[in-house]
Amino acid sequence: MFTRGRVELKTEQQLRSMDAAGSILCEALDRTIAAAKPGVSTAQLNDVFAEYITLAGAKPNFLNYHGFPGYICTSVNEEVVHGIPGERVLQPGDVLKIDGGCIIEGWHADSARTVILGSAAEGTADPEDERLSEITRAAMWRGIVAFATAKHIGEIGEAIEDYVRSQPGKPLGILEDYVGHGIGSAMHMPPDVFNYSTGMRGAKVKPGMALAIEPMLTRGGIDTDVLDDDWTVVTTDGSRSSQWEHSVCRHREGIWVLTAPDGGASELEPLGVTPVPIPA
Ligand code: MG
Ligand code: MG
Repeated sequence: MFTRGRVELKTEQQLRSMDAAGSILCEALDRTIAAAKPGVSTAQLNDVFAEYITLAGAKPNFLNYHGFPGYICTSVNEEVVHGIPGERVLQPGDVLKIDGGCIIEGWHADSARTVILGSAAEGTADPEDERLSEITRAAMWRGIVAFATAKHIGEIGEAIEDYVRSQPGKPLGILEDYVGHGIGSAMHMPPDVFNYSTGMRGAKVKPGMALAIEPMLTRGGIDTDVLDDDWTVVTTDGSRSSQWEHSVCRHREGIWVLTAPDGGASELEPLGVTPVPIPA
């Protein structure tokens, strides 16, 4: 889960390969989410994702990762991460996390989104689940904003935690057992990217650094267990959870969100950051 060692710094050409993987991943997640409806199984979602990345010429990085059997992780409700796609049929009101990745020219992308199957306004979802997902998503963007100017990666976790703790209403749990990570020639690389303040500055931010920033929040406690399938992580107290993730790079001219369709512009500009395409 936790990594140690040197931080890989990518050339701009390598970052552009990661960006190509990120664009394919973004479209694959769009298509998978469009298919996520009550009555659909998580195995069917896996098929939608697998078909698209294969068609687009990308290789899977989740499949066979330490023996993982899917192209994506599908985690429902109290399942936080690493759920295996299978026969489970989605129900109205479910909180589904889809986490996927792919490889182009040996360079990896990794991204996750939370989907709520219904809406509180229509009475088919719990408003507290919508709040959970929205705060997790916004916290991810606050972490990405911090990465844009951070001197050390510890600032990312501080920004995520500050944002979550400043929200009115019932406090949410910030998972500590699972964290973000460096990404590049492998999916999971140093450094760890904590979603909370550790009191340590962490690795120095340098051009060529790429990180997967992925807060995971719960409506309850932060303790987790792993199910008998040896993969699926659930909250010990059964509380529902959300995960949002983007792969993001810093290059010599700025920041670029590799797994967003516009480099993150539509989300970052209102927060005062303008992403810059990776120099050609
Ligand atoms: Mg992921
Ligand atoms: Mg990740």
